[in-house]
Amino acid sequence: DIALYEAKGAGRNRYAEFRHEMHIAAHERLELESDLRSALARSELFLVYQPIISFQTGEVPAAEALLRWQHPTRGLIPPAEFIALAEESGVIVDIGAWVLETACEQAAQWLDAGTPIRISVNVSARQLDDPGLTRTVASALRRSGLDPDLLSLEITETALMRDAESAAATLRELRASGVRIAIDDFGTGYSSLAYLQQFPVNALKIDRTFISACDTHDPLIATLVQLGRSLGLVTIAEGVEDETQLERLRELGCDHGQGYLFAPPLEVAALERLLAEHSPA
Ligand code: C2E
Ligand code: CA
Ligand code: CA
Ligand code: CA
Repeated sequence: DIALYEAKGAGRNRYAEFRHEMHIAAHERLELESDLRSALARSELFLVYQPIISFQTGEVPAAEALLRWQHPTRGLIPPAEFIALAEESGVIVDIGAWVLETACEQAAQWLDAGTPIRISVNVSARQLDDPGLTRTVASALRRSGLDPDLLSLEITETALMRDAESAAATLRELRASGVRIAIDDFGTGYSSLAYLQQFPVNALKIDRTFISACDTHDPLIATLVQLGRSLGLVTIAEGVEDETQLERLRELGCDHGQGYLFAPPLEVAALERLLAEHSPA
């Protein structure tokens, strides 16, 4: 039957096409991975900083450092397109050390300039597993001279729960050195309340997915804020984009917020202009 034969043929073609695409994808991956290894040495990585706003005072107590990659031929690559790759290949450990050093140096400069803000740095699961993490953090603090209290490490709930016992031990060591800990993307993973109490953390960052669908998730947001408050933690809302969300978060007693309503991640000069405008007279 001709029709059947054609269908089979088309199927075969699609399969060949699919294999070809997979081949390109694998090749691109390898290329990107090798580019990423040299990105650090070629100074193609840089940090942008997103202000975190106090709902009570409107001031900027902190900023989150976010990684960007200026690729020589592909242009600006967002972290969503390379962090996972950096994790899988392990190169995130070196990149993460660079992020810590750069962010601490920047925060020390802001402190010197009379605009003390806490710097928040993302730490991935792979970095948390690395036995050298506490040493890397200590070295970034020592080199920059930054007060450890001005450094906050953001660790996702999922990374913490992969091996909760060992994560708790690492967090205790980090806390003992004076740095702060925030649980990132809070509410998206499976964390048991028993563990949450055992983790020596200072802040909870409520994930953007809840804030962006503020209406549907209202009871959940209320619960997360309440949970943070009852544990004596600072609560921070991610991805605040409009006034309605801001009003509701204020009512619920959420402490801080971060999002396009206030500012996107900014280059250093732009953040400094914003700090000058927002600093108390
Ligand atoms: P994250 O830690 O949850 O960071 C917040 C992300 O939300 C950032 O995306 C930020 O630009 C974005 N964002 C902030 N406000 C808004 C808003 O109002 N609306 C929307 N739609 N988005 C908003 P970005 O910079 O693309 O980073 C994505 C993720 O990449 C981060 O998610 C973090 O998991 C990872 N990442 C970024 N920098 C680093 C780093 O230095 N180290 C590690 N390990 N991961 C990093
Ligand atoms: Ca984060
Ligand atoms: Ca987050
Ligand atoms: Ca998030």
